[in-house]
Amino acid sequence: MDKARLATALGAPSGFGQSQFALTRGNAFEARVKADGGAELLRLAHARLDPGAEPPAGAAVPDLSAHGPQGRTARTALALREAVRAGGWTLLDHPMLALDVAGSLAFLEPDAVVVHPDGSWSVVEIKSFPMVDGSADPAKVGAAARQAAVYVLALEEVAARLGSEPEGSVPAPRVRHRVLLVCPKDFSNLPAGSAVDVRKQRAVTARQLARLTRIEELTDALPEGTCFAPDRPAEELTAAVEAVPATYAPECLSACELAFHCRDRARAAGAVTRLGRPLRAELGGLATVGEVLAAARGESGDPDDPAVAALRRAAALREEALRTAGTATPPTATRVTAPRTETPPTAKDASATAREATACH
Ligand code: SF4
Repeated sequence: MDKARLATALGAPSGFGQSQFALTRGNAFEARVKADGGAELLRLAHARLDPGAEPPAGAAVPDLSAHGPQGRTARTALALREAVRAGGWTLLDHPMLALDVAGSLAFLEPDAVVVHPDGSWSVVEIKSFPMVDGSADPAKVGAAARQAAVYVLALEEVAARLGSEPEGSVPAPRVRHRVLLVCPKDFSNLPAGSAVDVRKQRAVTARQLARLTRIEELTDALPEGTCFAPDRPAEELTAAVEAVPATYAPECLSACELAFHCRDRARAAGAVTRLGRPLRAELGGLATVGEVLAAARGESGDPDDPAVAALRRAAALREEALRTAGTATPPTATRVTAPRTETPPTAKDASATAREATACH
């Protein structure tokens, strides 16, 4: 499904993705890193991942072009097998890998894969965020590590297939769990490389993939005739998207093309999920802002529920604070009168005060 086109058809175009300027800059940097047969990239792979191996002079860079994603995936597997048999260093520029995701094949395209002289494989990620004094933004490095971990899993499937081939096969190659991250050095256009251990991200991703609901099970639960084709009328598409439960969170804004659409729906429904996962977790079974406010006012909710009790305590503290502020004389010559109001606490107020109240006990 093309979620970017779907979002546009729904009237909430995606703001997700890099700007054209960032894309152009990123592409120029990647071209520079891979120039001269990937000499600089291989030098960094040797220095950061495998300094004990022979230097990567005269590395092979096989042609991976083929028709369609399936053809490119098969061509990549062939090139990996040949590289292991040949020994020495090989650079695979934009190989194509396939990974089973919930029963459907997903095609993945790492920036590069390096085959080491011992036959092992390493993933290379080239990013345009800077590496200053040898370190980069941890959040961006974390995102790159999660991305690389998916490639590692896909490569492990290729390695397992090579290892299980009958006669003439090669032993299953080792896929290294330290990947090479290449970034511009200190805001320049010069590449800097760093080895990133992705074992944790790999384990988490493998667990998540194993737990994913199969796509057939998801589609079986949809109403007959549900279709997400972007050329369908907007009302039909909206109904189709509504048929799939979605739990919007602010994190969606940096991860999903449908984020603006889901945010609008979450706002319209007053869902507390749009206020962030930590707050949602604190509110327990209270799913909407309306329920939270009603619970704080004592109009609904189980008083034995810790979230409801905290909200009521927060509301009481707020009332008390407003009453005190309204009667106290400020220390300066100017008297500041706080509004005497019965306005119920907002979810944010309630949560912040609830935290204070909880901390007091
Ligand atoms: S809830 Fe988030 S991840 Fe799911 S479809 Fe909406 S924006 Fe995408």
